[in-house]
Amino acid sequence: MEKTITSTRQVQWENVLFFGFTAFIALIATPIYIYQNGISLSEVLLFLFFAFGTGLAITVGYHRLYAHSTFKAHPIVHFFVLFFGAAAFEQSAVRWSAQHRSHHQFVDTDQDPYNIKKGFWYAHIGWLLFWHHETSLNNVKDLERNKLVAHQNNHMMLWGFVAGIFLPIALGVLTGSSILGAFFILVCARFVLIHHSTFSINSVCHMFGKSTYDIYASAKDHWFVAFLTNGEGYHNFHHRFPTDYRNGVRWYQWDPSKWMIAGLSKIGLTTNLRRVSRFTILEARLAAERQRVNDRLVGMENFSSLHNALDLLKEEHQKMKLTLEHWDHAVKEYQTILLEKGSKQSRELKKEALKKIRLARLQFRKHYSEWTEFISLHPLDLQRNLLIGSV
Ligand SMILES: [Zn+2]
Ligand SMILES: [Zn+2]
Repeated sequence: MEKTITSTRQVQWENVLFFGFTAFIALIATPIYIYQNGISLSEVLLFLFFAFGTGLAITVGYHRLYAHSTFKAHPIVHFFVLFFGAAAFEQSAVRWSAQHRSHHQFVDTDQDPYNIKKGFWYAHIGWLLFWHHETSLNNVKDLERNKLVAHQNNHMMLWGFVAGIFLPIALGVLTGSSILGAFFILVCARFVLIHHSTFSINSVCHMFGKSTYDIYASAKDHWFVAFLTNGEGYHNFHHRFPTDYRNGVRWYQWDPSKWMIAGLSKIGLTTNLRRVSRFTILEARLAAERQRVNDRLVGMENFSSLHNALDLLKEEHQKMKLTLEHWDHAVKEYQTILLEKGSKQSRELKKEALKKIRLARLQFRKHYSEWTEFISLHPLDLQRNLLIGSV
């Protein structure tokens, strides 16, 4: 496999000074400035606007549009995500995507630029401060074909200065801030918030949280990081299904990036939104749940009924898979009927098929609550139940 990143240990003074300076301004100078001068409503609103705008440009644009091509976008959307993405000062979309594609392809190895195996702080910011990464752009040739994307990559300093420094200061001054106040609050403090939120995906989300869809992946689902990063914290899901435009796949999971992509599709600004089927996702979740119990049982010493327990687990999992397949089949049957022209007969069939879906879904829910109860049994309870022959 072609090597895409070569990392060598070398202090990156530019980055050390940049991240050090912005952190100093954000954490020390800004609070002192606000204590002495107060903060106006327009400064708060502009801060939120730029924080949310640059954050979304990274998640919707750099990540889901460019790095993973999870949807297609109108040139207007390309312009906005490139503009506000440049305002985040996280490199160009091309370089960001090249490194991120390597992260997915070579996760947890030396070819992963933010390899969590090298420690929390390395994955968070150490990789940028103390390491030089020779990044090949061979894995992002598709992106460079887009003229606007290529322009942003070739004139990054200009895009970054206009979007990330000049515009916020100009809008700040126009709405009554001092140049210093706008620089502290709208530029430096926003940089620090956005940078460390993005970095948390690579550090926190590769160390803490839930392994909902793949128990062996270092990537985890972490709701608080999702809150900070417009939905990117559902990282276990994302690594398992990187081509899906959603990261928080369940309706209640905080994922404004997903809502924005779906919202823009309603007015034709985004198209070809890629989604993994609900059944494939549920299958992955069930497999992860089974594997977790399996490993816990195998890890127990002196578990006399181990083989019986593993067999039972396999049997229960099989039952769940069948219920899921049944539901999937009912949906497919309905979709086939939908493709037929609206004769009276197909209307009847449609009603019948919808009934089948409802029943299959109900059955799945019922079995899933039994399954949840079963997998949450303590191994000793399981052993006791096996000995008396029922669970
Ligand atoms: Zn990751
Ligand atoms: Zn990704």
